[in-house]
Amino acid sequence: MADYDYDLFVIGGGSGGVRAARVAAGEAGAKVALAEEDRYGGTCVIRGCVPKKLMVFASEFSDTADVANAYGWNMTPGTFDWRQFRGHLNKELDRLEGVYRSLLKNSGVETFDARAKLKDAHTVELSTGETKTAKTILIATGGQPVRPDIPNANMGIVSDDIFHLDTLPKSILIIGGGYIACEFACILHGLGVEVTQYYRGAQILRGFDDEARGLIAESMRERGIDLYTGTNILQMGPASDDHSSAIPTASDAAMGAGAQQDIVMAHGGVKTDPNPDHTGPIWVKSTTGHEGVYDMVLFATGRDPNSTDMGLEDVGIDIGRRGEIIVDEYSKTAVDSVYAIGDVTNRVNLTPVAIREGMAFVETAFKNNPTAVDHDLIPSAIFTHPEMGTVGLSEEDARDQEEIEVYCTSFRPMRTAFAGQPDRVLMKLVVSKATRKVLGCHIVAPNAGEMIQLAGVAIKMGATKEDFDRTVAVHPTMSEEIVTMRTPMRTA
Ligand code: NDP
Repeated sequence: MADYDYDLFVIGGGSGGVRAARVAAGEAGAKVALAEEDRYGGTCVIRGCVPKKLMVFASEFSDTADVANAYGWNMTPGTFDWRQFRGHLNKELDRLEGVYRSLLKNSGVETFDARAKLKDAHTVELSTGETKTAKTILIATGGQPVRPDIPNANMGIVSDDIFHLDTLPKSILIIGGGYIACEFACILHGLGVEVTQYYRGAQILRGFDDEARGLIAESMRERGIDLYTGTNILQMGPASDDHSSAIPTASDAAMGAGAQQDIVMAHGGVKTDPNPDHTGPIWVKSTTGHEGVYDMVLFATGRDPNSTDMGLEDVGIDIGRRGEIIVDEYSKTAVDSVYAIGDVTNRVNLTPVAIREGMAFVETAFKNNPTAVDHDLIPSAIFTHPEMGTVGLSEEDARDQEEIEVYCTSFRPMRTAFAGQPDRVLMKLVVSKATRKVLGCHIVAPNAGEMIQLAGVAIKMGATKEDFDRTVAVHPTMSEEIVTMRTPMRTA
């Protein structure tokens, strides 16, 4: 057998790569190394789920005073200090990165703060100039946000940049209708930014249950987000005096001419290239003729796998149309000694899925227990306001597959209804007529992410509608409706 430097070399120190490295070293006793060119923790910890969720929490305090006052408190709405929050956020991210580094160290994984690319099927070349060999190589390099190909697109920011802003804009235009666009529309609106959102399709959150995404869109508009569907960005450029005077925005009026000049980027983005020369307002024209001037434009138009300039094709690895590494059900590439997990494979781009793929990889490659990743019935949450939790098939997908019953209720939740707020929640079960199995569960409500985790267990176990029915309600809660809906709203 050839003599390699390591049993496993992992490229990428995000959630998937770190988990695989730790488990291979700690549980399977493998000699493991990992290379990361940026910060340890990857997208989720450094520029995704974690800082985003902390921003969600920050944004949720905006109506605290209104609700509290309805309950007899005497509170005055406060103001949000972005720089104070950002300072605290950065400290927390530094702490988490330290945790990731020590987890690797304590598991005996050797780390290289360097970019790595493949030289051959068992060799990686580091940006430090070193070359290392390994019996198995795992690519877990994640993805990065992409901008549409239009002139001046580099005047806009991407989600990575948000956490580094020196000041929050007074107004922002968000392009896109997926997870990131909708989450940041709600977060930034909650933090006091005037938000306009363009989505090119008929309804935001394509692929999710129609009724659920309809309620989210309605709630976003009701809260004051200027959401335009069937609309895309056509042109953008620096706003001239003509633009500013021709199309005054509320923020222009509030701030006065030139006040936006302090909107600058602190770090200029990691893998992105915002135009550092342009810090003023941006003029935008839409495909429907709508024009506006915004302090900032955010492109939330999808993410592409990080697979370029890694020597992958030269080694014989197959790459798909978007740059995703093609793998089999065991996450193995076309080259026997090279595996890939997480967003770089563009399967289901969620942190817990990358972690699962990493664990299954270790079982397969290091524990002699070939384990395919189960991508079926993955629960997930979208941290909009209101939040959505979802698992299984949408009503539309389920009815294409078989005859179904739909159980659904929408109501004003007690907490905010008492305060006179218009918020509505939705609880929905999609049930197979033939097997009685619950095929999908969709919840739009505060903390829907917490609820769907538990509904996900039942649905993964194959629970039927009758199993839900014989479960006693927890009263008084919003989620009790999930077990008390008796009559189908419709069949299809
Ligand atoms: P998505 O793929 O979810 O959404 C991209 C959006 O941009 C879509 O609305 C798409 O429209 C639109 N779009 C794409 N290209 C263009 C274009 N050229 N012009 C205008 N609009 C365009 O990507 P996101 O960036 O929102 O998120 C990436 C992934 O990250 C998600 O798929 C998800 O897996 C993960 N994620 C998960 C989160 C969670 O679990 N809460 C939170 C954030 C991200 P169309 O629908 O027409 O294609």
